[in-house]
Amino acid sequence: MARLTREALRGKAQTVLGLVDPALLGPTLMHEHLLWDIRTPAMRAEPDQGPEITLCNCFALGYGRKKVPGNFRLLCEATATEELRIMAQAGGRTVVELSSGGLDPRPNGLVALARDAGVNVVMGCGHYVHEYQPVANHGRTAENFAAEMVDQIQLGAWNTDVRAGIIGEIGCQAPWTDLEKRVMAGAVMAMQQTGAALNVHPGRHADQPQEVAEFVKARGAEMDRVIISHIDRTIFDEDRLFRLADAGVVIEFDLFGQESSFYALSDIDMPNDAIRLRMIRGLIARGHLPRVVISHDICYRTRLTKFGGHGYGHIFANVVPLMRSRGFSEAEIEAIMVGNPRRLLTFV
Ligand SMILES: [Zn+2]
Repeated sequence: MARLTREALRGKAQTVLGLVDPALLGPTLMHEHLLWDIRTPAMRAEPDQGPEITLCNCFALGYGRKKVPGNFRLLCEATATEELRIMAQAGGRTVVELSSGGLDPRPNGLVALARDAGVNVVMGCGHYVHEYQPVANHGRTAENFAAEMVDQIQLGAWNTDVRAGIIGEIGCQAPWTDLEKRVMAGAVMAMQQTGAALNVHPGRHADQPQEVAEFVKARGAEMDRVIISHIDRTIFDEDRLFRLADAGVVIEFDLFGQESSFYALSDIDMPNDAIRLRMIRGLIARGHLPRVVISHDICYRTRLTKFGGHGYGHIFANVVPLMRSRGFSEAEIEAIMVGNPRRLLTFV
């Protein structure tokens, strides 16, 4: 397959079905998983993967105290297609799928979903956090990771001819490992060589997003093309939130639909959708509307409608009306759902 040059990509968005005019992307979810396996290696090895999900146990499994490995993977194309159709009926047109290396990325599966559900799917590339990466990655250089990501965008990813349209989610932790830093340094080089945007999965310490922002800035990244994910489980005070946004990165609230106080992976008070919108309102008041995007980051089954959850349509069906009743203007909603994603997904 021929390599797509930077000039061929510039001004276009790249879905798993090929290049598209960014004007056609429409309302976009910037951080989701459609086919994924986010079990840790230890969870994958457990002999008991958990019960079948039913109406009687979906709350217990979804709320998080009763964590079973089988909830953390979805490799069924028929289920994912049906969930995408529900999203499309609610008004969604494009999904950014960020199952990067270690999360069992399935490019050909995404092609089938995009065709069958009639929606745009933009695929990520690169690698997730340290413990999910193969041992073979441990000795690789930043340049080597960069070359892999450039190929995933220009040629095809994960031994297929399906090309990525964004870099990420690139995994970081607190403390940030040397391997993860090399992948991130490679991701910045790949941005600079391809014109793609970068999505960062930050570590769970409240200062880690700022650490990443300073790291990528020192390497010359275009800051307004760097998206910091999972703000809603990481930063809870306006000082940190504003300092990060003032650094020029895009702020992503991507756990919409998680209405639980409890977060399984760190001991924090989770905000609900209303509090997320208040934080976004604070960012807008400070002039940061062009750097806010939102999503659900669906990565366990009980968040799908089939298993009792809110599904990919939740933002369109429920959050956008909540935005209106909380005083968001149509122009603000349009920027968050359409304009900002379109800018980020357009190669420069
Ligand atoms: Zn993530």
